[in-house]
Amino acid sequence: MLIALFPGDGIGPEVVTQARRVLDVVCGDALSYEEAPVGGAAYKAEGHPLPPATLDLAKRADAILFGAVGDPDCDALERHLRPEQAILGLRKELTLFANLRPAKLFPELADASALRPEVAKAIDLVIVRETNGDVYFGEKGMRTTPGGRRQGYDVMSYDEDEVARIARVGFETAKARRGKLCSVDKANVLETSQLWRDVVIEMSAEYPEIELSHMYVDNAAMQLVRNPGQFDVIVTGNLFGDILSDQASMCAGSIGMLPSATLDAEQKGLYEPIHGSAPDIAGQGKANPLATILSAAMMLRYSLGKAAEADRIEAAVAKALAAGHRTADLGGSVATAQMGDAVLAAL
Ligand code: ATP
Ligand code: MG
Repeated sequence: MLIALFPGDGIGPEVVTQARRVLDVVCGDALSYEEAPVGGAAYKAEGHPLPPATLDLAKRADAILFGAVGDPDCDALERHLRPEQAILGLRKELTLFANLRPAKLFPELADASALRPEVAKAIDLVIVRETNGDVYFGEKGMRTTPGGRRQGYDVMSYDEDEVARIARVGFETAKARRGKLCSVDKANVLETSQLWRDVVIEMSAEYPEIELSHMYVDNAAMQLVRNPGQFDVIVTGNLFGDILSDQASMCAGSIGMLPSATLDAEQKGLYEPIHGSAPDIAGQGKANPLATILSAAMMLRYSLGKAAEADRIEAAVAKALAAGHRTADLGGSVATAQMGDAVLAAL
């Protein structure tokens, strides 16, 4: 099986290196790797954040392990040349429409959560966020009203097939976990949300074993802080999911801990930490590699059919934390490579 390695910018190469070490121990020769530049690194080398050879590798590979993109040197570039366009381009070109972000607190890190430890300990949920539609991709623009005022607009739209394919990922994810699905919308105000709710309810007939609930997004934001333990799987649109998943990450501890997957309809996927390129600490060996190591575990589980190997990695991360290893974001002073060493030792 071929893995595309896209280290990207900033701390991306540092954390991907550690994930690769872990994969080598757990999977050995079962995986092969090809690496390509992406983001600011690709712009500097080839004049484009997502060069054709990088996109081609992404299409050929069985899965993609992605570091991060974002480079302050590129801030002044036109929008289509900025590093961030690489990830948007990959999502669109490969139809990666389902972003899965598990938020789970390792018990050893209860003190790192933004919540009270007894509330934080109950968090073990997955947010399934749609990433190919919604207000991000509707018609948008800037115009002048007859009265001469500037007016910006972004059209929010979903068609029923777009809702159905993400709803299916939500139901299937719940089926593989504790069997509870909460669909989050704003159906009291938005037409897109009314359609969303109708389609989810129609599909629920195929999943009688799943306990389905519906929640307005404002209430969901409150409930995530008040009682996150009530959630198993949350399925929601692109905009609501963007906001709720960042919120959930801080409830679960450091940004340096949380992995993500973005999948197409065939479970092919791009795996990346939820954090960015962190230019403020790049090149200093301070970055926490665990989010990327846990992203590699997700890759084994979701795209490569290697659940046992994924379990091994997750258990090794827990063991390294239990042994007291902490990078700076977790209040310690362990370096990036040492954290990798600790996970390897636990394996
Ligand atoms: P993006 O727009 O790409 O999401 P961002 O602007 O949200 O990026 P990040 O790059 O995620 O920002 O960094 C936010 C803060 O978190 C920074 O102070 C950074 O140093 C810190 N940070 C991010 N990732 C890690 C990590 N793996 N280990 C330690 N600290 C991190
Ligand atoms: Mg961010």
